[in-house]
Amino acid sequence: MAALERRYPPAWAEEWDRVGLVLGEPAAEVRRVACVVDVVPETVAEALAAGADMIVAHHPLLLRGVSSVAPTTYKGRIVHQLIKADVALYVAHTNADVADPGVSDALAARFGLTGLRPLRAPAPGSPAAGAGRGIGRIGELPRPMTLAELTRHAAAVLPATAWGVRAAGDPGRMVRTLAVSGGSGDAFLGAASAAGVDAYLTADLRHHPAGEHLAAGGPALLDAAHWATERPWLDDLAAALRAELGVETTVSDLDTDPWTLHAPAATAPVTAPAADPDPAPAADDKEPRREG
Ligand SMILES: [Zn+2]
Repeated sequence: MAALERRYPPAWAEEWDRVGLVLGEPAAEVRRVACVVDVVPETVAEALAAGADMIVAHHPLLLRGVSSVAPTTYKGRIVHQLIKADVALYVAHTNADVADPGVSDALAARFGLTGLRPLRAPAPGSPAAGAGRGIGRIGELPRPMTLAELTRHAAAVLPATAWGVRAAGDPGRMVRTLAVSGGSGDAFLGAASAAGVDAYLTADLRHHPAGEHLAAGGPALLDAAHWATERPWLDDLAAALRAELGVETTVSDLDTDPWTLHAPAATAPVTAPAADPDPAPAADDKEPRREG
């Protein structure tokens, strides 16, 4: 816990967040740590089968108040399973998001981004304030690519999910500077626009915020599966625990995204960008912006 709290101080978490030790005896010996994004029956079963003594998770199991952890409830069952098996549960969530290196550094590394800087720095004077820290990362791609190419590339470099990657914006738009933010990134659309990046990759984007962002001339958007944007961090977490403590680690590759199926439309959709009859953009028209 002390090693985790040096790397991801709990004070760096958002006020609404719930991080740190969820259950487990602080004095118990830990030899093997299971790293997971979500604490669900499937990842718990995996951790127990692997003989883990501790689970370190990204998402809080108990974010909101509960009045019971009875084993007849979904989460209570997990609490009972872990306590009976003497397996501790520890959460590093928004405190791991803002850390440097943090969750979005691992995501940025999948794209080979260089010259990394935070997408949204912590407020000056807040506990997390400090050079390099903040939510999301902005960096340069190793080579410019069109939005269409980047979308296929993202699907190839991110962990596989049924959701895959969908994108919004002109498919021919050239992308050099990319912002990435692991998890739900709606709230940072304005920060991505203000930063002047060519594209922003995150998860859980919605119809109205995404549409209005594009209509206002904002960066192209890539919407990946929530789990796929945070899974890369587990490798960093596990490597840090091994290096600092010499513990054994396992990393869960179980896709815990709720979406299990995806079917492309049977016929090509009628969309504004596809209506362009000339697929070859003029040299001075590399970054078309759709106004209003
Ligand atoms: Zn998340």
